[in-house]
Amino acid sequence: MNINNAEFIKSAASPKDFIYGSLPTIVFSGKSNVGKSSVINRLLNRKNFARVGQSPGKTIHVNYFLIDQKAYFVDLPGYGYAKVSKTEKERWGRLMEDFFARDGLISLGVMIVDSRHKPTADDVTMANWFMSTGCPLVVVANKCDKLKKSEIDPNMALICETLKLPHDIRIIPFSAEKGTGSHELMTEIMQYIK
Ligand code: GDP
Repeated sequence: MNINNAEFIKSAASPKDFIYGSLPTIVFSGKSNVGKSSVINRLLNRKNFARVGQSPGKTIHVNYFLIDQKAYFVDLPGYGYAKVSKTEKERWGRLMEDFFARDGLISLGVMIVDSRHKPTADDVTMANWFMSTGCPLVVVANKCDKLKKSEIDPNMALICETLKLPHDIRIIPFSAEKGTGSHELMTEIMQYIK
């Protein structure tokens, strides 16, 4: 697969715009500012493809990118930004419930958390949504460049424990900034793309 051949397809604001089951679909999720756009950009070897640093909470859309005509990368709207209005939070909740309620929308979930912190209540909710679909899931612990080496193992353990991850779900220490973990994540993703 030529990862450099990536194009933006569409922003879906409601279920009628979701793309149903035609190609393997890799779904990325994470709270605002965790570095979700940076992780996607890192995988695609791009700088500003998935937007980085966009105002948090402004875009309640499910964004679809087509990768070399072979797979979709799906960017779910970030969550957990404190300054978002109640109406916007509800809109996010409805869109996510719609997304996770439908079969066949996720080939692999990529749940991005901050490697430095205990996952938030919203992270736990998101992990439960992924796990409730029964789809394969991988957890990416981003910003690990900010950790001391000795902090990596205990932080990964805290994340697994807080999200109540079954033992077969992999957690990858990652740095979108430095590229750490990028190869491991791409190898995992490629298993789901023929
Ligand atoms: P998003 O809101 O989740 O899409 O997050 P962005 O990709 O816009 O990143 C949010 C901020 O975190 C930006 O200032 C990025 O430069 C920074 N960031 C993203 N990934 C990393 C990383 O791996 N390490 C560090 N140190 N900063 C990162």
